[in-house]
Amino acid sequence: KPGLMMDRPLLISGLLEHSAAQNATQEVVSRETHGPTVRLSIAQIARRARQLANALRGLGLQPGDAVASIAWNNHRHLEAYYAVSGSGMVMHTCNPRLHPEQLVYILNHAEDRVVLFDSTFAPLVQAIADKCPHVKAWVCLSDAEHLPAAGGAVKPLAYEDLIAHQPDTFDWPEFDEKTGAVLCYTSGTTGNPKGVLYSHRAIVLNATTACLPDVLGLSTRESVLPVVPMFHINAWCIPYAAMVAGARIVLPGPRLDGASLYELMESEKVTISAGVPTIWMGLLQHVEQGGLRFSTMRLTAVGGSAMPRALIEKFNDVYGVEVRHGWGMTETAAIATLSNLSAADWEKPAEERHALVARQGKVVSGIEIKVVDEMGTTLPRDGTSQGELMVRGQWIVERYYKAERTALVDGWFPTGDIATIAPDGVMTIRDRTKDVIKSGGEWISSIDLENAAAGHPAVAQAAVIGIKHPKWDERPLLLLVRKPGAALEKDEILGFLAERVAKWWVPEDVVFLDALPVGGTGKVQKNELRKRYGGVFSG
Ligand code: ADP
Repeated sequence: KPGLMMDRPLLISGLLEHSAAQNATQEVVSRETHGPTVRLSIAQIARRARQLANALRGLGLQPGDAVASIAWNNHRHLEAYYAVSGSGMVMHTCNPRLHPEQLVYILNHAEDRVVLFDSTFAPLVQAIADKCPHVKAWVCLSDAEHLPAAGGAVKPLAYEDLIAHQPDTFDWPEFDEKTGAVLCYTSGTTGNPKGVLYSHRAIVLNATTACLPDVLGLSTRESVLPVVPMFHINAWCIPYAAMVAGARIVLPGPRLDGASLYELMESEKVTISAGVPTIWMGLLQHVEQGGLRFSTMRLTAVGGSAMPRALIEKFNDVYGVEVRHGWGMTETAAIATLSNLSAADWEKPAEERHALVARQGKVVSGIEIKVVDEMGTTLPRDGTSQGELMVRGQWIVERYYKAERTALVDGWFPTGDIATIAPDGVMTIRDRTKDVIKSGGEWISSIDLENAAAGHPAVAQAAVIGIKHPKWDERPLLLLVRKPGAALEKDEILGFLAERVAKWWVPEDVVFLDALPVGGTGKVQKNELRKRYGGVFSG
């Protein structure tokens, strides 16, 4: 029998209008690209989003057209999120750190009609504009005064001029909730980037789930700072979830160094934040060096790459900030699993607790996972059988944008990650299929080794890659960045590791570097390291 309830579509415009009506005076705090911090109410954000929707319509854009952003986390980007998707168009968030050729590729693949960009990226825009024939307007997210200096073929419009005389009412269209809302491309480490087109339904469901107490715990009492970029998987859907919850939103603009983030967290009384581990390393270094404390920060969600245990320990025990460690990917729209401690877990000794948080956690409601062997057979949830992680759920990709075939295998998305699942459902990422080191027919987890190395007090950052080896096929090579002023040599770190990992896991060699190459989303680029150091082991 069919249910007898109303059929109202889950639409992104609904999130904005809900918040504008219920939380009209709640604040959005935003650092401008040129420096100052501005404050707007949710009611103002909604009015400006409606003005932008009118302006885009005025430019001749139609539902289904794509609008790109190349932008930091700021209030204009937030307005665009709602204006574009709300009016039935596709918000295409671009990672500005992609190689310019890849950026051109995705702008053309998405057929973007308008590009919204921050002045920081003006030189980039000028360099690629003549290769993007679909784009009819380039809009700088600023007022006329802060337009980038003239130069180059493109004469950008100022966002503030574009919306200035537009009505601040807009009849958001109603359409099927399965309509595409946001397009996000993978970073294309293997071949061209692939587009994932999130539907309204996927985003609204995910945003609602993200507010749950055991996920991000957003509410009207919280002040949330998404450090994870709005061009990287919708900042893990926080710009939507915050509207569901009525939380205060703090947007950091371009300054993501430890000092700037700390200052913003303190001055804006931030309680919850989210970002990749490298961001938290920078923040922690700043706090440690200055002997500082957090006065309001209480929770941070970390993901994108494995969070080293040493960092979890510092945040929890020294600074009183709870770390929740999550896993997700562009193809999963946001956080899919999250480590979270139950009341019983909190009773456990600190070491045990940190070990629990270092795992990638349990699925959030709406998501299912399993691990399979090479034949596709499901492996037991025993905490040790490892295989490829498969995922399915209401906000998981089915096929890539413009792809002819499904990306699924028997209805599940193959993630390319290698994982184990424990009997209690907790998932641990062991490695990526392309990063795992195959030594003498056995697997060595680069993540586990990196984590162990990061536990040494003189280590700022660690990466492990496989190098070709005549006898063992591959052997691990450790690449290290020392903490400023710290002394550490090869023998000491290898000795340290020998006490912590299996003997045959101990790296073959150690290379000390000034910095590790980091990609657009703040992750260490192991491809680069492999190119430079992955040759045959010469003894
Ligand atoms: P890419 O890293 O290829 O640019 P994504 O940003 O979509 O693309 O990253 C997804 C990948 O990041 C996952 O498949 C996984 O390998 C890795 N990842 C994400 N979160 C974690 C985590 N908490 N621990 C370890 N690896 C993670």
